[in-house]
Amino acid sequence: MERVLDNDVKFVAGVGEARARLLDRELGIRTVGDLLGHYPYRYIDRTKVYRIADITEAAGLSLVQFRARVTGVAYAGEGRRRRFTVFVSDASGSAELVWFHGIAWIEKRIEQGREYLVFGRPSFYRGSLSVVHPDIETMEQALTRHAESGMQGIYPSTEKLSSVLGAKGFHRIVTSAWELVRNRIDDPLPEALRRRLELVPLSEALHGIHFPQSAEGLEQARRRLKFDELLGIQLNIQARRTDRLARRDGFLFPRVGPLFRAFYETQLPFPLTGAQKRVIREIREDTVTGHQMNRLLQGDVGSGKTLVALMSMLLAVDNGYQACLMAPTEILARQHFATFRRMLEGLPVRTAILTGASNARERREALEGIADGSVQLLVGTHALIEERVRFADLGFVVIDEQHRFGVEQRARMWTKNARPPHILVMTATPIPRTLAMTLYGDLDVSVIDELPPGRRPVRTVRYTDAARLRLFGFMKREIARGRQVYVVYPLIKESEAADYKDLTDGYEAISRDFPLPHYVTAVCHGRMKPADKEESMRQFKSGEAQILVATSVIEVGVDVPNATVMVIESAERFGLSQLHQLRGRVGRGGEQSYCILMTGEKLSKEARARLDAMCETNDGFRLAELDLRLRGAGDLGGTLQSGEPFDLKIANPTLDARLLALARDTAAELLAADPALADPAHRGLAGLRDRHAGRDRTDFSMIS
Ligand code: ADP
Ligand code: MG
Repeated sequence: MERVLDNDVKFVAGVGEARARLLDRELGIRTVGDLLGHYPYRYIDRTKVYRIADITEAAGLSLVQFRARVTGVAYAGEGRRRRFTVFVSDASGSAELVWFHGIAWIEKRIEQGREYLVFGRPSFYRGSLSVVHPDIETMEQALTRHAESGMQGIYPSTEKLSSVLGAKGFHRIVTSAWELVRNRIDDPLPEALRRRLELVPLSEALHGIHFPQSAEGLEQARRRLKFDELLGIQLNIQARRTDRLARRDGFLFPRVGPLFRAFYETQLPFPLTGAQKRVIREIREDTVTGHQMNRLLQGDVGSGKTLVALMSMLLAVDNGYQACLMAPTEILARQHFATFRRMLEGLPVRTAILTGASNARERREALEGIADGSVQLLVGTHALIEERVRFADLGFVVIDEQHRFGVEQRARMWTKNARPPHILVMTATPIPRTLAMTLYGDLDVSVIDELPPGRRPVRTVRYTDAARLRLFGFMKREIARGRQVYVVYPLIKESEAADYKDLTDGYEAISRDFPLPHYVTAVCHGRMKPADKEESMRQFKSGEAQILVATSVIEVGVDVPNATVMVIESAERFGLSQLHQLRGRVGRGGEQSYCILMTGEKLSKEARARLDAMCETNDGFRLAELDLRLRGAGDLGGTLQSGEPFDLKIANPTLDARLLALARDTAAELLAADPALADPAHRGLAGLRDRHAGRDRTDFSMIS
């Protein structure tokens, strides 16, 4: 019965074959249910019709609607600067409607003396009202318009879709989809449960989110839809956890063998911190239970997660299994590999590396060695999850900076084995455990809450371009003291070409101001060949180059303890967690380090808040919290989103923490009574659970 929502979206009036294909390609919308699950991100109130005289600058309205009659038109300018003005008035006053393009289309639709409903963003020139590119309809159109309510949803869309569907296109097809299913929607929640939790029925919620009649109705709708989303995820996670703990096929690492011991006694360059020891102990305890381990390791940048990873991997090798570490970038994989090689020197353990940029020889050595079991410890990028990578006996997997991996990539790691390897995922983006579970599935959490001794907090300051000479002077002084400097440029996809130009200009300016033979400046960005990137990184690491000009490819993980200055250009364009990651590249040795945020003169409020926070604190936990708050509801965009296994459309696990707790308890209660949700009355619940099952590939515990 709930099948009506599974109908192909092409059957919705106003969609059809071609648009259905476009909806799928652009937004993954295939069924009527998908379409109704595409919620508005904001609403405009179309019940309110203003008098022109009431639309003043002082009223501070962002969007307005008014009825007015056309009194005249005017053309001005030529070619691209052409402008079409329509003069309108109502009983209270007059206004101008202005078009800069689409003039041929609009002029045909404007009739002298006729009354229109005008909708748009008001602007004011010397106190008089004008609206640029408004939506207009004749009053006849407005009165027959099929509007279910006064609040009209604005839907997330793509450029392509908007150009095909038009501005109100989504609203129109959602309205027809609703007509199609309105009386045939089955509620997945059993009635008694729904009432007890004081949730509105699903059909009411769907209506309420697309065509809200009131603010309270909208709130109720959102609460219900969020709850379903969170409950589905909780049912999924908890069922899997029960399943994982019921099984006893986890690899056993009972012995602390010669390798681990030799490493600890002879290779370790410094004593472990208390937190590192504790986490290694937690991992050891996990690997003797007979259950598969699924552990998230959180630790701020520079807290020494790599060492914990290495020692855990040695534990696996000591017990006769292979171990691998997957890093999100080529640079980071190479760095880990070099570190491991250096630290393992003289010990009987065979290592290999495999990345997308591996040459034929490196690739062959790695592939053969891991297939026949002679390579015990493998480092790589997502090249590790390619089909042809076959392990002889993979017992332990580390995923570094896991938030940087896409869902699919993390997901495929476990298919490498008949038995599930233990999994350690590491991140410097600290999040509370319930949130972590919602985002990453069924896992236990370890925290490194202590930095290695002797670290001094990085001093962070903000400069504008006016201070560039001072900045260069400062860089010279630091270099004279034997230190090294990063200069990082933002790289954002849409403006790639411009970004590269910024970087290249910056590089040239620095090369001019820091001439050879005293200074060597290396450059590293995504458009370079892997071999050239590697050479730049080598120069910088070895200290041959004192300055590294780079894009944020160096954002995660890069470890050059002698570097003490991080200059971030156009810092306002970076997100908070990215800034914190970048800053984490310095302050890794015992020297005082500096982070210099270069910004423009004018900053948005949010950008200022981010930069102020950076200058105020070095605490990654506090910054992560602030970041979530700044990015606010419904927008877990950016870094977190890209790594989420669960597709959260409407709930925000941070802001909806109470609803999350309710969903968690409800799921536990339901599963206690009916673990498989096999009761016919629970069929809808099983559906909610399985809606997220397509994603269970992310959970490393699910091995068939
Ligand atoms: P992250 O947690 O950000 O991945 P790393 O593992 O790269 O941090 O470690 C940061 C730096 O701290 C490295 O140079 C590493 O050698 C050093 N380090 C790690 N553990 C310790 C320790 N116990 N004492 C001193 N230095 C340490
Ligand atoms: Mg790291």
